[in-house]
Amino acid sequence: RIAAVDGGHDGVHAFLHVAGESALAAAELVDAGISAGTAPASPLAGVPLALKDVFTTQDMPTTCGSKILEGWQPPYDATVTARLRAAGITILGKTNMDEFAMGSSTEHSAYGVTRNPWDRSRVPGGSGGGSAASLAALEAPLAIGTDTGGSIRQPAAFTGTVGVKPTYGGVSRYGLVACASSLDQAGPCARTVLDAALLHEVIGGHDPLDSTSIDQPVPSVVEAARQGARGDLSGLKVGVVRELGGEGYEPGVRAAYDASLRRLEKLGAELVEVSCPHFEYGMAAYYLILPSEVSSNLARFDAMRYGMRSSTGTSAEEVMAATREAGFGPEVKRRIILGTYALSSGYYDAYYGQAQKVRTLISRDFDAAFAQADVLVSPTTPTTPFPIGDKIDDPLSMYLNDLATIPTNLAGTAGMSVPSGLADGLPTGLQIMAPALGEAVMYRVGAAFE
Ligand code: GLN
Repeated sequence: RIAAVDGGHDGVHAFLHVAGESALAAAELVDAGISAGTAPASPLAGVPLALKDVFTTQDMPTTCGSKILEGWQPPYDATVTARLRAAGITILGKTNMDEFAMGSSTEHSAYGVTRNPWDRSRVPGGSGGGSAASLAALEAPLAIGTDTGGSIRQPAAFTGTVGVKPTYGGVSRYGLVACASSLDQAGPCARTVLDAALLHEVIGGHDPLDSTSIDQPVPSVVEAARQGARGDLSGLKVGVVRELGGEGYEPGVRAAYDASLRRLEKLGAELVEVSCPHFEYGMAAYYLILPSEVSSNLARFDAMRYGMRSSTGTSAEEVMAATREAGFGPEVKRRIILGTYALSSGYYDAYYGQAQKVRTLISRDFDAAFAQADVLVSPTTPTTPFPIGDKIDDPLSMYLNDLATIPTNLAGTAGMSVPSGLADGLPTGLQIMAPALGEAVMYRVGAAFE
């Protein structure tokens, strides 16, 4: 299937690396284990998966969509990678992404754009456009993404698939190449909520190798998804966030959202309007906090330790500067410059410090809203998938894609996107948000709704 749809001028181009024969050999090993009764007990043993190219893999390159890591093969597996293998899941290959997970369209990859399988002239969203497109193009039944401001949920909405951003600390970040460490979270991508739940239980749970990992059992999301699939949400309160869904949302998206709210009511849920007044400052706070962390995290790409090294220059400083100039794309450079500025001495309190205060106010908005409702909902994105090239020269309008998803990352809470019908023939997504470690109720609602 990958050979049929992924390559060529007009191909989906979800994959940067296809494991090919080694994936087949790994699958045969699991198959033999199933016959012999020695295979991993996981229900996903033998199921193939597409892995975002931001997780380290001992046997495959890891580029993060960047030229600076071209050809780099990590010496170790990320915890997520290791847990997939331990469950007998076959890793088909590594998927395309915006460079170092910065972007909303996968156009910021150094290795070419990924096309939306619904309409190949349109973007699949980003940064995890490759993972989402691989599901929609039926190249893989499961995928893994990362979500710093929406990079699992927005591509899910754009491709008619399911994407989950777990609670911060719910899935290990060990071996996940950092974008913004206080916001990054790995999560499952699938075509159904139950598939996502099965994958969630494989990758989730405490990891001593990640100091921010939560030392608690993974929420029972498989059981919750099975319960939800029975289609009864009576007794549950669904909070409709007043600040998300009005201004700036396309009429088609708005109509699909209204229909989704009616559907939730039909399933027995009680809708209550909730207000989160500080969400409107989320975007501004995010674009100070994220670049600040990026400018620090990406300092490690110094031409000495990993990947590319420019042959220009004679001193270490010159080689480093020439390598970063040639190795990073424009969006990455823009954010490093923004972050360096925001963290400069004298500006720290005015920018980063203020943004951290807004972050606290957003967390309090969530606390107040979750006191009134079990889950919150909004459209996942303000628009349907846009044409390739439309926003690439307009960073601000690109950033607006994540209006509804960013608050969840700032607060460290959980969120998911499930398909919510078509608008003008293109997919839309319903975002369901839950408190930290409240994934079970979120999966229940998602499975009832889909
Ligand atoms: N699109 C957002 C950004 O560009 C989110 C990225 C992400 O979640 N990795 O920062």
